[in-house]
Amino acid sequence: MTWQPVDCHAHSTFSDGALTIPEVVERAAALGVHPSIADHVSRDVVKSVKSIDEVRVYLDELERYDVLRGGEFCWHDSLWRELPEDLVRRFTHRIGSLHAVRLPDGHHVHAFARRAPAVSLDEYMWAHLASVEQLAREMPVDILAHPTLVTLPFRSAGIDALWNEEREHRMIDAMYDAGIAFEISARYPPHERIVRLAVERGVRISLGSDGHTREQVANVSKPLAMARALGVADEALYDPRRHGSRTQRAAGARR
Ligand SMILES: [Zn+2]
Ligand SMILES: [Zn+2]
Repeated sequence: MTWQPVDCHAHSTFSDGALTIPEVVERAAALGVHPSIADHVSRDVVKSVKSIDEVRVYLDELERYDVLRGGEFCWHDSLWRELPEDLVRRFTHRIGSLHAVRLPDGHHVHAFARRAPAVSLDEYMWAHLASVEQLAREMPVDILAHPTLVTLPFRSAGIDALWNEEREHRMIDAMYDAGIAFEISARYPPHERIVRLAVERGVRISLGSDGHTREQVANVSKPLAMARALGVADEALYDPRRHGSRTQRAAGARR
C-alpha cells in the first residue's frame, strides 16, 4: 500500500458540512487522500450529532463506507463523557476541541463569540492554557483540533501578543504527556514556531482540513507541506490504522 495522507478532520452533512459521506469519500479519492469523517458530536454546535442515539446512527452510516470514523467533541460539552463503551469502540479516532475555554470563575468564553470577553487577552490566554491542560488530562482523544484557535475578538491580536515561549511549552507539554496529536489545520493554520516545538518535543502531528465545503474537504496540501518542511516523515503523520488510537485503548482498558 503506497502512503497516502489522512485527512483526520472533515465534516459531512451529519453536522455542519456541505457534502454527504459518499461525496467526502469521492472527493478524498480524487485528491489522493485517505478519507475520514469527524463530525461535531456535541450539544453545543447548532448542526451536530447531539445524542447517544444519533451517535449510533452516525456510526452505522459511516460503517457502510471505506472511511475512518472520527468525531469532533467539544471539551466543554458533556456528551463525550456520556458515550457508552460499545459506541466509543466504534470510532477509529476522536478529536477534542476547545470551542470554549473555562475562566477561573467558571464562565466559558466561546471560540466563535462576537463580543469581547470580560477578561483581558492575557487572562484569556492563561485560561486557554489551563483548559488545554485539563482537556489533556481528562479527555481520551487522539487529536487536539486547531490548537491555536482563540476566541474571535482576540484573533486579530497577532501571534506575538497571543503566544510566547511559556504558553507554547505548556500546551505542547500537556499534549506530549497525554499522547495527543497536534493538528495542523488547513482552516486555522498554526504558526510555525509552535509546530516546530511540537515536532522537537516528539508530539505526533495530524493533518486536518477541517473542511466543510467541496473545496476544503480532504485538501491537506498546506498542512502536509508544513509538516514536511519541519522534517516530519510522511509515515509519522497520524493515521489511526498505523498508530492506533487512545479512543480504542480507553474503551479496552475499561472492559
Ligand atoms: Zn472545531
Ligand atoms: Zn471541525
